[in-house]
Amino acid sequence: MASTISRREFVGTVATSGAIIAAGNPPASGQSAPQAQAGGRGRAKAVIDSHVHLKHGDAARTEFPARVIVDIMNQAGIDKSIVFAMCTTTQRSIEMAERAVAEYPDRLIPYAYALPHYERPVIKELESALAGRLFRGIKIHAGECTLPEYIIDPVLKLAGRFHVPCLIDAAGNQAAAKRLAQAFPENTIIFAHMGAYGTKNAKLVDAFIQLAEDHRGVRLDLSGVALEAKIGEAVRRLGAGKLIWGTDGPYAHPNLVTFARDELEKVRRLPISQAEKDDILGGNIARLVHAAG
Ligand SMILES: [Zn+2]
Repeated sequence: MASTISRREFVGTVATSGAIIAAGNPPASGQSAPQAQAGGRGRAKAVIDSHVHLKHGDAARTEFPARVIVDIMNQAGIDKSIVFAMCTTTQRSIEMAERAVAEYPDRLIPYAYALPHYERPVIKELESALAGRLFRGIKIHAGECTLPEYIIDPVLKLAGRFHVPCLIDAAGNQAAAKRLAQAFPENTIIFAHMGAYGTKNAKLVDAFIQLAEDHRGVRLDLSGVALEAKIGEAVRRLGAGKLIWGTDGPYAHPNLVTFARDELEKVRRLPISQAEKDDILGGNIARLVHAAG
C-alpha cells in the first residue's frame, strides 16, 4: 500500500498552507440515501463507517465537505459515518464536526479531536462538546499528540466520565497502548488500524490483538489494515464483538466510492456469519456511541 502509506507521512512534513477542498463530486441529493434505510425490508443491519475524516493527516491536510462524504456513503451503501478532523486544534475540530452534522444530522456522528494547546483549555473544550451530547467520542492521534500520562490521561478520564469511546491511533506504540489499556480498564479504547496504519509487521498486529484479548475495554479498528488475513485471525481469537469497521476515508484511490466499497468487502468476504458481519460493520460501534442501528 505504498500510495496509502505516503499519504500518512504527515509527521515531520511541512504543512501546506490551506487544505485542499475536495471538489467535483455531485452534491448529495438529500438527507437520506434510498439504499441506506436502516432496518428496511431486504436490507441487513445498518452499516456504520466508524472512521471518516473531515480533515486528514496527510501532507496536504486534505479536507472533505460533508456533502462529499454523504455522497460516497449513498453510493457505497453506508448508513452512517463517524466524522472528525485532525491536524487542527480541538476547538476547530469541534466546529468542523458541528457544521458537518448540522447538515446531515441523521447520517453523521461527530467525534472531537484531542490535541494539547499551550493557550487553550482543551479539556474544557472537549468537556463542553461531550456535555452537549452531540459528540459521541474522542479521536486521538499519536502522530500529533504523544501518549504519556501527563498528556493524555486527563482525556481518557473525561471520556470515562461521559462513557464515550476514544479512537486512538497509537502509531504502533505498543507500550503506550498497553499502559492506557491497563490504566483505564473501564474505558472503551478503539485502537486504530489494528495497531499501526498499513503495517506489514505481523508481530505488532499480534500484540494489539493480544491487547484486545487481555482487556475488556479494548477494541480494534479495521481501517488501514494491510495484513488482511489478520482481520480473520482477530475474529477467531477475539470474537466479532471487539472489531470495529471503518474506512479511514475519504480516499480518492482508485476513486472515493470504490475505496469505500473495497473496505466493506474486506469484512463481507470473511468466512463468518451474517450476524458477526453485521456487528463488525455497524452493530458494535452503534452500541458504543448509542446510535440507533
Ligand atoms: Zn484516520
